Amino acid sequence: MADLGYDYDLFVIGAGSGGVRAARIAAQSGAKVAIAEEFRIGGTCVIRGCVPKKFMVYASEYGSKLQEARDYGWDVEAKGFDFPAFMSKMHAEVDRLSGIYLRNLANAGVDVFEERAEMQDANTIALKDSGKTFTVDKILIATGGTPWRPAPEELPGVEHTITSNEVFNLETLPKHIVIAGGGYIACEFAHIFAGLGVETCLVYRGDTVLNGFDWDVRTAVHEGLKEAGVRVITSAVFDEINEVDGEECPYCIHLSNGTKLNADVILMAVGRRAATDDLGCDKAGVNLSEKGSVIVDDASRTNIPNVFAVGDVTDRIQLTPVAIREGHAFADTVFGDREWSFEHDFVASGVFTQPEVGTVGMTEAEARKALDKVDIYKTRFKPMKQALLEDGEERVMMKLVVNGETQQVVGVHIVSPEAAEMIQMIGVAVKMGVTKQQFDQTCAVHPTIAEEIVTMRHKWVPETEPA
Ligand code: NDP
Repeated sequence: MADLGYDYDLFVIGAGSGGVRAARIAAQSGAKVAIAEEFRIGGTCVIRGCVPKKFMVYASEYGSKLQEARDYGWDVEAKGFDFPAFMSKMHAEVDRLSGIYLRNLANAGVDVFEERAEMQDANTIALKDSGKTFTVDKILIATGGTPWRPAPEELPGVEHTITSNEVFNLETLPKHIVIAGGGYIACEFAHIFAGLGVETCLVYRGDTVLNGFDWDVRTAVHEGLKEAGVRVITSAVFDEINEVDGEECPYCIHLSNGTKLNADVILMAVGRRAATDDLGCDKAGVNLSEKGSVIVDDASRTNIPNVFAVGDVTDRIQLTPVAIREGHAFADTVFGDREWSFEHDFVASGVFTQPEVGTVGMTEAEARKALDKVDIYKTRFKPMKQALLEDGEERVMMKLVVNGETQQVVGVHIVSPEAAEMIQMIGVAVKMGVTKQQFDQTCAVHPTIAEEIVTMRHKWVPETEPA
C-alpha cells in the first residue's frame, strides 16, 4: 500500500497489547506500518502489569503452600525468600517476552521506533528524540493508561510514594508497606506482600473493597484480605506523608481518621488515567472525555475519520485481552478483508487475590436494575483440601445470577483458588447464552471445587427484599 503519497498507511502510537496486535495484523494485510513506543515494547501488561504481577503472585503463594505441605505430612523448612534473586529471574523473563514482541513486529515488516511519538496534525507524526516526522494515512492511538496519583497540593509528601510502575523495580523487600486504594491493583498487591511476609496495611476510602464487583465477591475478598493478615483500614484516605527518623520506617502517613501509619514503602493504587497528555490530540482535533480518554465508537473510530484508538486509552474495559481484540478488529476492518468489531459484553476477568476472583456478566445489583425477575443461586463452602489444614478457614464463594424469565445465566461470580481458570471456561457458556437448566444438566467432575457450579439447585431467598 502507501500509494497515497504518505510515508505510512498506518502509524501506531504505543507498543502495548492493543497496538502491537493491530500493527502486526495491518502489516500482514499488506499495509506499510510503523509503531512507536516511548518506554519498552510490550506495554503495561508485559513490562509492568499482568505478567510480572502474576510471577509475584506465584512467588507469594509459596509461603502458605509450605505450611500446607507440612499439614499434609511433609517435613519442609523454609529458610527464607531471596527477593533480589526472584526479581532478577522475573525481569529476565519480561525481557525475553519484550524481545519476542519486537521480533514479531519486525517479522511482520513493521518499522519500530523506540521513542516517543506525538501527533502534529491528523496526518503527521513527530518523533521526539530523533526529531523525524512522517506523513501518515491513518493513526492508531494505543498509548494505554498510566497510574494516577494526587498532586502534591492535594497530598503533601506524595513524592515519597510509588505506583504500580515502580513496584516491579523494588530492590529489597519492604518491611512495612502501606497501600492506598481498594481496586484490582491494591487488593492484588496487598496479598502479594502479605504472602511474602511483609507487614501490610491497606487503606481504602470506602467500606468494602472492589467497588463495582458483585457484593458477595466484595465481602469475600474483603474478609480474605484480613484472613491473609492484611490490616484493612476503611473510610479513610491519606492526608499527609512525612519523612521521619527511623531506619525501618522512614515515612509516617497521617490518615483522615487521625490514624498514623509508619512505612518503608507506600504504594498508591488509586486508579489509572488514559495516557493522552501532550499526545497532540488537540492538534489532530481528536475529542477526549473529561477524564482525558479518547472517545471512540464501537469500531474504535474517533471523531476524526482517519484516527482510531484501542485499549486502555479509550477507557472502555481496561483489560489486556480486550485491547488485543479491539486492535485486531480495527486492523482486520480497516486493512484486511473482514469487517468486525469487538463485543464488550460478557467479558470474563480475574482478580489475582488469594483466593482469586473470577467474574463474568452482570452483578446481582446490575441484574436487579436491568431485569424484571432475577433468580440467585449461591453457595459458600470449605473446599476439601482445607479439611487437613491446621488453619483451613478459607471459604469458596460461587454465585449464579439468572434472568428469572428466560433462565439465561447472565452473571457468574466466583471467589476460589483457580477462580480465574474456572471463569475462562464458564465464560464460553455464558457468552453462548447458557441457561440455568443447562448448568443443571451438566454432570459434575468429582471431587473438584468447580463441580459446585453445576450442583446449585436451590434459589437463594434474600432475608429482606432487595432495594
Ligand atoms: P481501580 O479503578 O480498580 O481502583 C482504584 C481504587 O482507588 C478504588 O478503590 C478507588 O476507590 C480508589 N480511589 C480512587 N481515587 C481515589 C482518591 N482520590 N483517594 C483515595 N482512593 C481513591 O484501579 P486500579 O488502579 O486498581 O486498576 C486499574 C485498572 O487496571 C482496573 O480497573 C482493571 O481494569 C485493570 N487491572 C486489571 C487487573 C486484572 O485483570 N487482574 C489487575 C490490575 C489492573 P472507589 O472504589 O471508592 O472508587
